Amino acid sequence: MSKITFESIESEVRFHNPLRDFAEDLHRLEIRKDPLLGDVSVHNPYLKDKAKAFFGECDPDLVKRLIEESEKTCFFCGEKVEKSTPRFTSEFLAEGRLRVGEAVLFPNLFSLATHHPVICLCKAHFLKLSEFQPDLMANGFAAAQKFLKIVYERDASAAFTAVTGNYLFPAGASLVHPHFQMIITPVPYSYHARLLDAVDAYYRKNASPYFLDLVQEEKTGPRYVTRKGRWHWLAPFSPIGNNEVMAINEAEADFGDLTLPDLKDLCYGISKVLAFYETLGHLSFNFAVYSVKRDRSPESFRCLIKIISRQNLYPNYRNDDYFLQKLLQAELIIMPPEDLAARLKAFFLTR
Ligand SMILES: [Zn+2]
Repeated sequence: MSKITFESIESEVRFHNPLRDFAEDLHRLEIRKDPLLGDVSVHNPYLKDKAKAFFGECDPDLVKRLIEESEKTCFFCGEKVEKSTPRFTSEFLAEGRLRVGEAVLFPNLFSLATHHPVICLCKAHFLKLSEFQPDLMANGFAAAQKFLKIVYERDASAAFTAVTGNYLFPAGASLVHPHFQMIITPVPYSYHARLLDAVDAYYRKNASPYFLDLVQEEKTGPRYVTRKGRWHWLAPFSPIGNNEVMAINEAEADFGDLTLPDLKDLCYGISKVLAFYETLGHLSFNFAVYSVKRDRSPESFRCLIKIISRQNLYPNYRNDDYFLQKLLQAELIIMPPEDLAARLKAFFLTR
């Protein structure tokens, strides 16, 4: 018997529908629970093809205006990344900032963690999602890894890392210019902690690592997308964000232990997911890579990434993070993970 259970319940809703001359309608909802954390998501199949009603369409004129106006005062553009961004103290990093290719890593002006650098990814002020090329992102991740190794040498308490991305305002970015962030902390932040506690409890019960069992379980099913190097890409059964795609590294828990091919394969996958989001009409996204220092990690943890698309940009756009997500920590499924994986799989294979 499988150790992982994909649990869902059906719920019926009856009402008189004004869109059908007040005829009685019956909607059957599916309420799913994440097999590890129990996080709830809800799928109303009648929302199929209603993504536009929820996320709207990006307004090209508004996007153009935001790009042009923000470019004039952008701290990451041209010479300003050298002249206007913070520098590390000389005791911490003699050169002040880290550089890999076009990527430049420097301290955040307002840190939210013990170590919280920002990584300006490229010279371009704006990228379409299909322009987030693997090599470009690999520079950013390589800079993040270099920084993590420096922190490990200097700060014995640093153990929990998230390499993250917010792209454009709906995703919480305050600057348009493509950039990543990373936090390295002595305690795992809430979701990271829940993941670690849960995989540890799973390991004690089942004597095998949850994420490897998940890959094994999903590999032949409808939510598995593909394998690239040591990364397994899939659409989670009960997502925590819109169009969530995740990838699990089958071997390493520590972002610092990923090889260069690991980083390149990761970026290849991210570029596919982002280009796929573009075909769905999206422009804004978040991601997080979760990592634990090797000697602090439970045997059961594996480095993983979660990527989600965010609300589209148009005047007075609606926030996609409301009571359901923010206060109930549940998510709405518009495109079922099984459909998402099938479409993304085709995308990985054909382009
Ligand atoms: Zn810029």
